[in-house]
Amino acid sequence: MTYDYDLIVIGAGSGGVRAARISAGHGAKVAVIEGDRPGGTCVIRGCVPKKLLMYGAAFSADAEDARGFGWNVKVEGHSWSNLIAEKNAELDRLEGIYRSLLKNVGAELIDGWAIVTGPNQVTVNKQELTAERILIAAGGAPQLLDVPGMAEHAITSNEALDLEIFPDEIVIYGSGYIALEFAGIFNGFGAKTHLVYRSDLPLRGFDADIRREIATALEGRGIILHPETTISAITDDDNGKQVSLSDGAVVTASQVMAATGRSPNTGGLRLDETGVEMGGRGEVIVDETSRTSVPSIYAVGDVTDRINLTPVAIAEGHAFADSTYGGMNRGASHDKVASAVFSQPPIATVGLSEEEAAEKYAGITVFESRFRALKNTISGRAEKSYMKLIVETASNRVVGVHMMGPDSGEIMQGIAIAVKMGATKADFDATIGIHPTAAEEFVTMRSPRS
Ligand code: NDP
Repeated sequence: MTYDYDLIVIGAGSGGVRAARISAGHGAKVAVIEGDRPGGTCVIRGCVPKKLLMYGAAFSADAEDARGFGWNVKVEGHSWSNLIAEKNAELDRLEGIYRSLLKNVGAELIDGWAIVTGPNQVTVNKQELTAERILIAAGGAPQLLDVPGMAEHAITSNEALDLEIFPDEIVIYGSGYIALEFAGIFNGFGAKTHLVYRSDLPLRGFDADIRREIATALEGRGIILHPETTISAITDDDNGKQVSLSDGAVVTASQVMAATGRSPNTGGLRLDETGVEMGGRGEVIVDETSRTSVPSIYAVGDVTDRINLTPVAIAEGHAFADSTYGGMNRGASHDKVASAVFSQPPIATVGLSEEEAAEKYAGITVFESRFRALKNTISGRAEKSYMKLIVETASNRVVGVHMMGPDSGEIMQGIAIAVKMGATKADFDATIGIHPTAAEEFVTMRSPRS
């Protein structure tokens, strides 16, 4: 049987492009089909633009802090439209890089939306293409809850990154990664920002102490929290968007943003018609080699709803390519994956929460530190940083590390290596700190929490 390609990749996001590049580098004939801009969620609608806006938003707090250090700071407004234009220029540049990466390895980029029409067949732009293998890397998309007015009047993170008019007041629904990151962005640029969420604390699934600390910090930054609250309806009138809450309150805001999770982008692919096993959320079910129930079809990244993080999608795509075309037998590790929430202040974590560790191990020892960062003493900012180590008592292994505070994402990357290598608390203790830093707290915590 001869095919048009060895591999057709559906989706030119982080996972798909990595898989395509490495496969082509190993000698495979590869086509990548993408209906939107190459780069995918992370580069075009997620990590990159979000972080650029986050950097921009953080300057307002920096300006406040600078006064404590003797600066006469007068902030004379901010041009949202200039920032969006600069951000878009950077995204154009990155999209160009993604296109070149594929071109340089000889992978063909096809503009269009794909439908899987058989185990070895894809239809795009009414044309049938065949391949020995198909890799689904179609990513995910924001999901809107079935609440009256939500679909008509709420934006998602997609639109929030490109708003023409900056809102003076915004209601953000949800308290996950995206809700907290955008709350920091809108609040930092001066919008009166409400966070409405159904749980008692933000970031369900995170360590409970981190959840408590971030709630305090967000309020300290001026974000209005509405815990244990849901949105029951949204209407729009001449005064703005009327957001009815489950506690009976109505908030009038110029914008509402839904950040209530994302779902896999499988709606238009018709994978089930080819016999690919799908999960209840529309995710593609795969084994540890990213293979679906149809042996010639694989899937990586958010479309599989395993760990929905860019570096994980990249690792899965790379492992697929090396294993399939590079003569290697390697998987992508989903164990001890570190992540950061780029809220303000940011949070970072690796390993188990205290609650998970307590359930998993017979005994744990917890070390923690809550302190006012040196910079905050003179700046006058009351915000505290929080750091926590969770140790399995019997083995002395560090099984969970959590931090809320400046640079926590940068700090946690190095800590994650130690945790992944199985470092013990004694290893942390034997490491000499870098002084004066916040990070040194991780190697100087001596007394367990009683
Ligand atoms: P999350 O799953 O993190 O958060 C979803 C939020 O929506 C939660 O607060 C959840 O509440 C709420 N929610 C869900 N269903 C309902 C409902 N029926 N009624 C009320 N509230 C509801 O999703 P995000 O969209 O924030 O992010 C998606 C994923 O993308 C993340 O999990 C992460 O994997 C990835 N991501 C990573 C980033 C990073 O690495 N920095 C940045 C952005 C995204 P509850 O908690 O009560 O369930």
